[in-house]
Amino acid sequence: AKATEKGSFCFFTQDLTERAMRRLQIENDLHKAIDRQEFELVYQPIFELATGKIIAAEALLRWHHPEQGVINPVDFIHIAEETSMIVDIGEWVLREAAKEAMHWHEEIGKTLRISINVSARQFRNHEIHEALARVYSEIGQPGFNIELELTENLVMRNPEKAEDSLDLLRDMGVHLAMDDFGTGYSSLAYLRRFPFDMIKIDKAFVDDLGRNKEAEAIVRAMLELGRALGLRMLAEGVETELQRAFLAREGCDEVQGFLFSRPCSVEKFRQMLIEDKG
Ligand code: C2E
Ligand code: CA
Ligand code: CA
Ligand code: CA
Repeated sequence: AKATEKGSFCFFTQDLTERAMRRLQIENDLHKAIDRQEFELVYQPIFELATGKIIAAEALLRWHHPEQGVINPVDFIHIAEETSMIVDIGEWVLREAAKEAMHWHEEIGKTLRISINVSARQFRNHEIHEALARVYSEIGQPGFNIELELTENLVMRNPEKAEDSLDLLRDMGVHLAMDDFGTGYSSLAYLRRFPFDMIKIDKAFVDDLGRNKEAEAIVRAMLELGRALGLRMLAEGVETELQRAFLAREGCDEVQGFLFSRPCSVEKFRQMLIEDKG
């Protein structure tokens, strides 16, 4: 028994060491990733349910690591957050996405909302406000249909301070969306006070539509709440026709998910816009 314990202990520490090493490696490589142009934004279309037209896109980050291939955000965003690298990366994302939306507007004749994910670290010390001001002056068009997505946990950490920061962002002309709604801690009192334009219902609830009566009741209640507060409602992670039909019936405004499209490269998304009859 002792040998086994010792053995498993060794295995455990080795595993931990490997993980720590990998983390350190990612941290080191992240520092160079912007300069080496290893980041890419992919765009997932967002559709208006009533018309089926593309009305927005969410920009999602991909990292082309020289040795490890494509790394998804779940495997590096938290490290970028902890080391503050997210501030520079986040500004890169904002600039890149805003420029791309200008291209759609000017070259393709499609004016879409462009949604960008904002992390807690960018929001805390007004880094996002400063980045936004810089990007506006570069593209020469304040407010250009930019939407910032913030999670409820992010804003509920310090709701009084968040309210001021959100009001400031709103004054800068951006749209605000509450991301992953229903998964974190939220307060109805603050939902009313915060200047959000839109709520994104988390995929976890959408997954259970058609399978689970409670999930259906919750989504129905969320949509009702959104209507009462005058917010646009989006359902994310829509994968089946059954889910789409439920959301359409219940009056959800917008949808996003693999049923319609996966996130696309710049080139593929541009092609999709050219072909979209909207
Ligand atoms: P999120 O903001 O909730 O983004 C939606 C995620 O769900 C994306 O994963 C998207 O590819 C995926 N998705 C969309 N539709 C479906 C579907 O129908 N089924 C399934 N299974 N998945 C779907 P992705 O791109 O891996 O991003 C994961 C998370 O990483 C994002 O979650 C967001 O929190 C974060 N993230 C991505 N890009 C950025 C960024 O530029 N900055 C920051 N701070 N965070 C980012
Ligand atoms: Ca998001
Ligand atoms: Ca989300
Ligand atoms: Ca307010």
